[in-house]
Order: sequence, then structure tokens, then C-alpha cells
Amino acid sequence: MKLTFYGVCGSSPSTTKDFPNIKHTACVAVETDDCFIIFDAGSGIINLGKDLTDVAKPILLFFSHFHYDHIIGLPYFSPLYDSNHNITIIYPDIKKIKSILPKIFDSDFFPISYSQLPKEIPVKTPDYCSNFNVSVTSYNLNHPGGCYGYRLNHRNNSLIYATDNQLDSKHITPFITSFKDCDVLIHDCYFFNESQENLKTWGHTFLPDLVSFCFKANIHHLIPFHFKPDISKEYLSNMITYLDSHISKNKSSLRYTFPYDDLTIHL
Ligand SMILES: [Zn+2]
Ligand SMILES: [Zn+2]
Repeated sequence: MKLTFYGVCGSSPSTTKDFPNIKHTACVAVETDDCFIIFDAGSGIINLGKDLTDVAKPILLFFSHFHYDHIIGLPYFSPLYDSNHNITIIYPDIKKIKSILPKIFDSDFFPISYSQLPKEIPVKTPDYCSNFNVSVTSYNLNHPGGCYGYRLNHRNNSLIYATDNQLDSKHITPFITSFKDCDVLIHDCYFFNESQENLKTWGHTFLPDLVSFCFKANIHHLIPFHFKPDISKEYLSNMITYLDSHISKNKSSLRYTFPYDDLTIHL
């Protein structure tokens, strides 16, 4: 599996001047021999669309949920307008996604309606991916309005995409069972250690909760994801110091990678 990040921010495209390559909102691509899997259509999917020149390879486009930072790039995803591409949209609740997709292309927001796309895009549940040698499990995440996480298993590798999830001491137990022993965990890390109480109801995770979760669930490789759009060098460097000291203190073998736009990892 080849994993490429096209957008790693939450809420809005980045406003930071510190990192020119942390710019776009959520979009992650996983390429196998048989298909392109895409998680979310944040602004990062616009650049991904330009890279998808191989029309012979099917595209499986997953949505976690429909907050703007996960859908805003969809109308600008160029393969939608090329009928040579073979795109399938994947979501566990078919009725819900069929009602939402036309709304994203509503004439109040965009000049081309969903029904005007050159070909109808089929919508399937995650089990459809077994046709491409990928088994997928979906999870209900802890986020206002709901959100789905997905675990991919392909050739002895496992990868979980769990953006927009609040992991804290009250909610950690079921996720330890379901995410256990995962090779690569891409997980919401919107906060570091901010003290404001109201942030604890936003449906996002603080780094200390995420790190202690990874130790408990025996995660091999953590990729913190869905950063605050104003992330600064100092903030990131403090997060790295925190991770290094806690991994060392716990004598853990946990690896981590902070992602950025265009980062590719081979699994
Ligand atoms: Zn989000
Ligand atoms: Zn959200």
C-alpha cells in the first residue's frame, strides 16, 4: 500500500505561515495494485485529482462525515468530470449519502448540479472493497453529528483512518478493542494540551490522550492528523517533545510521523 497525504488540517485550510506544506483540509490516498482508496474530500482532493491520471484503476472514495473540511474539495475533484474514470463512493449509510451528495452541488453553492455530472457515481457500503482485495471495517466515532472511522486490511497490513474522534478517558475502552494492534493509525489530534474546558466537547482528541491510547491499544505507527489550521512551529515542536519523552519513559516501540501535504509512506 502506498499512503499519500493531500490534506492534513481540520476546520479550514491552514492559515499558518510557518508551514507552506501544511495547507489543505482532510484528504488521504491509499494506492494498492488494484485500486485507489481516498479518505475524504477536503480541499486536498483538488491536488489529488490532478495526480489521478491512470483511468484504468478504480477509485473508491470514502467519506468520514460531511463537515465542510471533509467535503469542500469535492466539486473541484476533476475525475468527477471525466467519464473515463471509474469512481465509486463508499459510505456505510447509503440512504444518507444519497441525500447529501446533491446538496453539496446545490445551485445556491455551485453552478453544476450533481445530476449533470457526465456519469452517475455508484454508492456502495464498505464491504464492496473486498472486490479489490481490501477488507474494510467501519466504526462509529465520537464526534458531534457522528463520524465513521475505517480500518483497511490488505496483504497483512492494517491501516485505520479515524479523523474527527474524541478519545478521552470516558470513551477510550471500546476503541482499544477495535483499534488494537493496528500497524498504522491515522488519528485526529486537533489539540495538544489546551486547558479550556469547553474544548473537551468539540469531538476532537488531545495529544496526551492519543499517546496513552496508542500504548494501551498496541498501535505500531501513529500518524497524528487533522491539525488546527493555525498550527505553529512552536506548537508542533512541543508536541514532538511530548511524544519523544513519553515514548522513552514508557519504553514503548511506538513510531510516529507528523504528516504534511504530499507526504508519501510505503507500507
Ligand atoms: Zn474535521
Ligand atoms: Zn467534523
